[in-house]
Amino acid sequence: MTHQNRSDSNLTMSVGLAALLWLAACGGPPAATAAPAVSAAPPAETQPAPAVTAAPPAETQPAPALECGSTPDLTRSMTEGPYFKADSPERASLLEPGLAGTRLTVTGYVLTPDCQPVVRALLEFWQADAAGQYDNTGYTLRGHQFTDAGGRYALETIVPGLYPGRTEHIHVKVQAPNGPSLTTQLFFPGVAQNQSDQIFDPSLVLLVQDNSGDGLAATFNFVVNDK
Ligand code: FE
Repeated sequence: MTHQNRSDSNLTMSVGLAALLWLAACGGPPAATAAPAVSAAPPAETQPAPAVTAAPPAETQPAPALECGSTPDLTRSMTEGPYFKADSPERASLLEPGLAGTRLTVTGYVLTPDCQPVVRALLEFWQADAAGQYDNTGYTLRGHQFTDAGGRYALETIVPGLYPGRTEHIHVKVQAPNGPSLTTQLFFPGVAQNQSDQIFDPSLVLLVQDNSGDGLAATFNFVVNDK
């Protein structure tokens, strides 16, 4: 060790000693500042993994069995009609105070042609109210949403009314993030006017799961090209 190093070493020791004396004189660091570090949660690596014990996030839950073969049919496209309006609000529920009509929920998946759920698919719904009227000035009964991490969507709305020449239907555009936009319509089972509607298509009829309450719960899976 050189003289210079020894001097540095001595200096370091002196400074260290002075600091210790100062701490002793002051009674050490205030307890209030030391305590939280001790009583706080242990470092992350020593914590029991919460992800294991907590409920798994939605995207990790096994999806219910999908009823489609390895090559399900693409959802049939339908005319857009005259009442589409761009820039609808993002909302899964189209319900608003004072909105009359039979409550309806429609849930399902957006799937690729090989039956894989599509994450963040865009769904844009628009429909007539219970009296068969479209809101062409505002956005009543119009809205868009995106499928979740499991490829699921859920729409809350009302059963649309009839208007001249048309049976009950809900308009929808569906688009996978990198796919083309599919424009189509959803129909309701057991509606007498289905038979006289020129564009009614049985492959686009909602599957009603429950109509025992004061509303209707139905499902529909869309199959769209994702590229
Ligand atoms: Fe329409």
